[in-house]
Amino acid sequence: MAEAKLTVVLKADEALKAKLKMFYQDDLCEKTPQYAVFQAKADDCTITLYQSGKLMFQGKRAEEESKIWTSLGSTELPSKAAHEAGKFCDDTAVGSDEVGTGDFFGPIVVTAAYVKREQFDFLKSIGVRDSKKVTDEKICKMAPEIIAQIPHVTKILSNPNYNQMRDRGINMNQVKAILHNEVLHQLLKEPQNETKLVVVDQFEPPAAYYRHLQDEKEVVNEITFMTKAEDQCMAVACGSIISRYVFLGEMKRLGQELGYPEGLPFGAGAGVDSFGAMLIEDHGEEMLAKVAKMNFANVEKVRKLYAQTR
Ligand code: MG
Repeated sequence: MAEAKLTVVLKADEALKAKLKMFYQDDLCEKTPQYAVFQAKADDCTITLYQSGKLMFQGKRAEEESKIWTSLGSTELPSKAAHEAGKFCDDTAVGSDEVGTGDFFGPIVVTAAYVKREQFDFLKSIGVRDSKKVTDEKICKMAPEIIAQIPHVTKILSNPNYNQMRDRGINMNQVKAILHNEVLHQLLKEPQNETKLVVVDQFEPPAAYYRHLQDEKEVVNEITFMTKAEDQCMAVACGSIISRYVFLGEMKRLGQELGYPEGLPFGAGAGVDSFGAMLIEDHGEEMLAKVAKMNFANVEKVRKLYAQTR
């Protein structure tokens, strides 16, 4: 694993300077270094803004803290909650995460999970962490236990439905935003799933996320967006694991229905292309749109490969 950077330097314009001052006003250090507008301390990070606009983050959380600002659109102020990201693991929360967006074959799966503080020990004991770091084998062992204990809502977007959305001009981030919003709304409308904290693993700036939902009837607001949320928030970690588990099952099922005992292949690499060519050979070109994402560059490669093998 790459080591976290201990110093990150950004450039702040006048608008950002004003936001920074407002954002860190409760964390200011008593002394201000020479030529600095302010210095603040937040958790394991020291933030210094210089008159020149140089903005410096130092300490263990330098990279994380700086990301609060680099991931923002120009018009928004980060929520104070995002800033306290590291502390979230101690709170009851609803969190959501998706899988399948980088795989040519198979659906997109999004899960929102509701995790109470009291359940943390149980979840830690069975080894809940980010599903990207846990092997699929472990996921298959953990997920049924999580599914049995943790209230959650999972939504599977099939390939035909995904392709239809794309045809209507809905891009991947909008697809994701719509799906996250849907599972969050469904989970939160149950009165027993009471929480003040709703966390989404961030895939785009918050303003863009809400813009994508402007035509939706019900929008879950006041979301805390966090990058690498599955590492910091138990509810997101659970959402991530359940999503992956359901995705694995779907890949197997879809493949087996077409006569491939191993299921459909993962990712978007060359192996996927040759599998696609075989699929056309066995089932005709129409089948591709039923099990693959037709806006991926793989489509052309698959067609070429198939033409070559004829
Ligand atoms: Mg994610």
